[in-house]
Amino acid sequence: MRQTLAALSDQPLSTAVLETRVDLSRTRLEMLLKVLDSDGAAKRVKGGWIGTGAEWVYDRERHQRIAAARKAEQQAMLDYLGTRECRLVFLRRQLDDPDPTPCGRCDVCTGTVWSPEVSAEVAAAAAERLQKPGVEIAPRKMWPSGMKELGIPVSGRLKADELAEPGRAVGRLSDIGWGTRLRELLAGPDQPVPSDLLDAVVRVLAGWDWAQRPVGVVGLGSRTRPHQLDHLARRIAEIGRLPLLGTLPPAGERPGTHENSAQRLAAVWEGFDTAALPDLAGLDGPVLLVDDLVDSGWTMTVAARAVRRAGAPAVLPLALALAG
Ligand SMILES: [Zn+2]
Repeated sequence: MRQTLAALSDQPLSTAVLETRVDLSRTRLEMLLKVLDSDGAAKRVKGGWIGTGAEWVYDRERHQRIAAARKAEQQAMLDYLGTRECRLVFLRRQLDDPDPTPCGRCDVCTGTVWSPEVSAEVAAAAAERLQKPGVEIAPRKMWPSGMKELGIPVSGRLKADELAEPGRAVGRLSDIGWGTRLRELLAGPDQPVPSDLLDAVVRVLAGWDWAQRPVGVVGLGSRTRPHQLDHLARRIAEIGRLPLLGTLPPAGERPGTHENSAQRLAAVWEGFDTAALPDLAGLDGPVLLVDDLVDSGWTMTVAARAVRRAGAPAVLPLALALAG
């Protein structure tokens, strides 16, 4: 909060510019600005936010009151599940209706009990749908605003010859189907990728409607999981009978937590030793660029740009997992 307040001045600053100065997620930054606004210490004006210069103090009592009200709301949601009275009466009482009447239609009013049974056929169809691997990784097309403030010379749209194509991941970390398996793998030791996940990668490759078949594989190097990523890129090359053209070794990351796009991009901007890439100018088709996890997407964006700049005509990002 104090960091956000200190970043404000009497000149309007956009949220995007503020993101380059405070390492907070967009959501959290906007929430803090709203609080500072309602406390009179910040103000939204044309072109962004200004500090009013008014002294700001943390109102402990008020925030404790709000926290207690939120706790009561959470309890009310739990009570709603187990209530023996009409559901609508319960909801209307929550909204301070002094005289609610039963709706006559809800499960309590009609005495209906919904069965949790599911037919084997429906369960099998749902399981097949959940186990089908493959989600799209949408490539980043715009650089975050204000990167020049962080010393990084990019703005606006990514150049056409630096873009990645839409990629694929086996699944999202939050998926019911593959999520648990992928979360376990990425939280586990730096070991070879197990065969069930390699099979899933093969199914993703088989189902990929790319415009042109890839002609080679480039792996991303990793500081934290070097063996797993190396193994993954090698196995994909073997399975697809494609040459492993090279890897992009990690060159380090700027420290910090990198909560927003601008900070995240700045952290990975010089994250790879691009000199280690071979000349890819002679290729007549796309390169599969392999990583374990695509989170904000900036690592993949910066790596794909490096591979394009080394001469690859197109880049197809392939990852085990997509965050979110
Ligand atoms: Zn009812």
